[in-house]
Amino acid sequence: SYFFQTGWTGENERTFVAVKPDGVQRRLVGEILRRFEKRGFKLVGLKLVKASEDLLREHYWDLRSKPFFRGLMSYMSSGPIVVMVWEGLDVVKTARKMLGETNPADSLPGTIRGDFCVEVGRNVIHGSDSVASAQKEISLWFGQDELHCWEDNSRGWIYD
Ligand code: UDP
Ligand code: MG
Repeated sequence: SYFFQTGWTGENERTFVAVKPDGVQRRLVGEILRRFEKRGFKLVGLKLVKASEDLLREHYWDLRSKPFFRGLMSYMSSGPIVVMVWEGLDVVKTARKMLGETNPADSLPGTIRGDFCVEVGRNVIHGSDSVASAQKEISLWFGQDELHCWEDNSRGWIYD
């Protein structure tokens, strides 16, 4: 079935997740990786990066006219971030649920934002909001050689 796959769909869907500078400072990287791993998603890309202003502007292009945009740029460039690509069935939607709402105050306990932060301007994590955004963001942050295909030996225990 892999042979006939035309894109990132089904079990091959991918999303882009980033632990923001506050998440790295607050030692939340391990906890966040752990949650995605334990859920059963497959890690296909991971690195610590200091994002350039150009890259961040491109990443948040849709928000360029928002009043919080300048603050967002300085927050996101205030330190290294951990960027990752996760793969699995419905991973884009599920990752957003695992993150919680944009505003931590609206995020339920049990979600990453609901468990680890308080204010929207320091909400510790990013996740793509759609399959189309995920594809755009993955190609923006990762080179093709940084995304790894590997045989998932627990696949049969995660998918029926
Ligand atoms: N943000 C902010 N103030 C706001 C809305 C958003 O500082 O009123 C920041 C926040 O870090 C958020 C990011 O801008 O995560 C991107 O906003 P978006 O609406 O895309 O939320 P997300 O997709 O991250 O939940
Ligand atoms: Mg967004």
